[in-house]
Amino acid sequence: MKGKLYKNRLTQILVIIFVLILILSTAGCQSKKMSNKDKIVVYTSIYPLYDFTKKIGQDYIVVENITPTGVEPHEFEPSISKISKIYESNAFIYLGEPMDPWAEKLRGDLAQKGIAVLKVGEGLIEGNDPHIWLSPKKSMQMAKKIYDLLVKVDEKNKAVYEKNYDRLIEELKKLDDEYKKELASTRLRDFVVSHAAFGYLAKEYGLNQVSIKGLSPQEEPSLKHIKNLIDFCRERGIKYILAESLETPKEAQALAEEAGLKILTLNPIEGLTDEEEKANEDYFSLMRKNLEVLKEALK
Ligand SMILES: [Zn+2]
Repeated sequence: MKGKLYKNRLTQILVIIFVLILILSTAGCQSKKMSNKDKIVVYTSIYPLYDFTKKIGQDYIVVENITPTGVEPHEFEPSISKISKIYESNAFIYLGEPMDPWAEKLRGDLAQKGIAVLKVGEGLIEGNDPHIWLSPKKSMQMAKKIYDLLVKVDEKNKAVYEKNYDRLIEELKKLDDEYKKELASTRLRDFVVSHAAFGYLAKEYGLNQVSIKGLSPQEEPSLKHIKNLIDFCRERGIKYILAESLETPKEAQALAEEAGLKILTLNPIEGLTDEEEKANEDYFSLMRKNLEVLKEALK
C-alpha cells in the first residue's frame, strides 16, 4: 500500500517536471520566433514599398509604412513624432522625387546616424513621373533593390530573403505575362484617367494614357483641357473615365456627365483605403483588379 502511494507520488512529480520542461521549451521557441527585438526595423514612405518589403522580409523584419491608410500620399507630410521613429529604425526606404520630398530631406541626416537609406526610384524614375510600381517590370527592379538592402542590413537571414525575393519576382513575372496577354489586342488603345499615374504601365503595354489632371491629383485641369478631352472621347469612342480610390473624382464626375461616359475605378496603388486593408488587398490583387478594369475600358 505504502509502496503504491510512493509510486503514484513519483509519477505525479515526473508528470509535473515533464509539463514544466514542455512549457519552458515552447516558451523558448516562441520567444525566438516571435520576439521583435531580434528583428530589424524598416520604415517605408509609401504603400507599394511597404508591400514589397513585407513580402521579402515577412516575419523576419518589422516593417512600418509612414503614410497612413486612407491617405493620398502626393501631398502628405509626416508628423515630427513619426519622423523620430525612423531615427530609431535600422533602415528607411523611400521612392524619390516628386513622390516623397520630405524623405529626401531626411536622407543625409539618417545616413549619418547609421541608418541604411534606400531611394528606390533612383535610376528608375523617368522625368518627374514617380509611379514606377505600376509597371511590373520596374517593380522587379524595385524588389531587387529592397532585397539588396535587407541583406546588407541583416546578412544572417539572407537565405530567407532570397527565397522570398525569388517568389516575389516569379509573381511579378506572372503578372507581367497576364497584362501582356490580356492587353495585346483590345479594340481601344487610349484610356482616360483622373491623375496621370499610369504612364509607365501604358508604355509597357503599348497603350496611351490621357489624363484629366497631371502627375499629381492636386493639379487642377483648365476648362480648355476638359473641352479637348470631351472631343477626344467622342472621336475615339471612349466609354469610360477611370477614376481612383483615394481621391474624390470631382473633375472625373463632371467630365463623365458632360461627355456621357461611365466611371470605373483604376487604382494607382499609392496607398490602401481602410476597406482595402480590411479585405486584405495587396499589390497583386489590386493590379489584377486594374487589369479587369482596363480590359473593360478598352473593349
Ligand atoms: Zn500619383
